[in-house]
This record gives sequence, structure tokens and C-alpha cells, in this order.
Amino acid sequence: MVLYLIIFFILGSAVGSFLNVVIDRTTRGETIMGRSYCDYCKAQLGTFDLVPLLSFAVLRAKCRYCKKPLSWQYPIVETITAILFAVSFWYLAESGNFDLITSFYILFLVSTVVVVAVVDWKFSLIPTTFVFAAAIVSLFYNYFFLSSAVFIENIMAAFGAGLFFLIIVVATRGRGMGQGDIVLAFLMGIVLGIRGVLVAVFLAFFLGALFSLILIAIRRKKFGQTVPFAPFLVAGFLIALFWGELVLSWYTRALL
Ligand SMILES: [Zn+2]
Repeated sequence: MVLYLIIFFILGSAVGSFLNVVIDRTTRGETIMGRSYCDYCKAQLGTFDLVPLLSFAVLRAKCRYCKKPLSWQYPIVETITAILFAVSFWYLAESGNFDLITSFYILFLVSTVVVVAVVDWKFSLIPTTFVFAAAIVSLFYNYFFLSSAVFIENIMAAFGAGLFFLIIVVATRGRGMGQGDIVLAFLMGIVLGIRGVLVAVFLAFFLGALFSLILIAIRRKKFGQTVPFAPFLVAGFLIALFWGELVLSWYTRALL
């Protein structure tokens, strides 16, 4: 078990390194092929500059060639992806669904939402193409691997969640949330189903409100200013994906 967790952690850090490339290049309209280079001096990076986490630590967060500081985005995304891959393995093993297709499916979803969260965080923009692609993959997965009752329930959850955010967007006239959040909520519904998406959306609003209050408290933000919401939707999504039933049982126990 521990050995597998370590393997998935290392695999996740490597995938996280690739996700950094996807995040940087898709937002610049570049292809994701080709060698990585330094943002400042354009020096091509060699194998030793590209080892996830280790290179950043060994180079002390500076480019080997021009000594300009490297973005903290790299080790943060690598670490988060590594942890999420380890958690994914744990979840797959615990749920008894540790088959190849389900494993790829979960890791693909995790990778996609990491990209969505970081791009929205950096650019206040949700890459809807990725979200749509993930929704289609999820639709196929549900069709072939879940019962038809659950398949239909999850489609209803997707339209329900999408409609909920559509109403918010219309009611607030697009301030704060946009069409990207609607598409993301749709994806969350398809993957999580009705119970799961309720947990995820509740957690997203809770975490978003908490974060805004903290920012206001430390005076980084004025009241009424908005923060990108996709990172919180993604956090809620991941918690609901891995621990949804646990959160529901805590919540119902707290109410009773
Ligand atoms: Zn450089």
C-alpha cells in the first residue's frame, strides 16, 4: 500500500509538471509539444532542469542559466497533483474499483480540474474546452460502467447544477461568476450525481466565503471585490469525489 502511494505520488508530480506546461501554453495559444524553455532567457531546459519538485529545490527556485526566479506555480501544481494522485490511488483501492479504466478516468478528471482551477486562479478564465471534453468522457464512463438509473440521475444532477449557476449568473449579471462556472457545475453533476454535487457546491460556497473573509481580514481585498470561483468549485468537487459520503454523514449527524 505504502509503496503504491509513493509510486502514485511520483507519477502525480510528473503529471503535474506536464499540467504546468498545459496551463502555460494553452493560455498563450502555443502547442503543448516541443521542449520546455525558460520564460525569461528562452534557454532550452535540459532533463535535469525538469525533474518535478527536485529541480526547483536544487536550483533554489532560480533559472540555471539567467538566475531569474522561477514561478512558484511549478512546485505548487506538482505537489498538489502528486498528493491528489496518491489520494486517488487510496480512493480506488478503498472503493474496490482499482481497474485500469476507472483509474485512468479518475486520474484524468483530477488532472483536468487542476488545470481548470489554476487557469481560473491566474487569468480569471475557465478553459471550457477542457471542461466539455471531461464531461463527454464522464458521460461515456457513466454509460458503460454505472447502472442506467445512476446514469440518468447524474445527467439530471448535471442539468440541475448547471441551471443553478445559470440562475446565479443571470441574477448577478455575470459579476463574480460566468458561463465557465455553469459548464464546470455541469461536469461536477455528471461525475458526482445529485448527492455528491450538493456536497461539492455547498463546500465550494463555504470555502469561497471563508477565503474572502480571510482576505478582507488581512486587507488584501475590499468587500464586494470578487475572487475566481473555479478553484473553490474544484476543491468542493475533489472533496465530494473522495469523501462525499463521509461529509454527508457528518452533516446529517450534526443536524440530528
Ligand atoms: Zn532563464
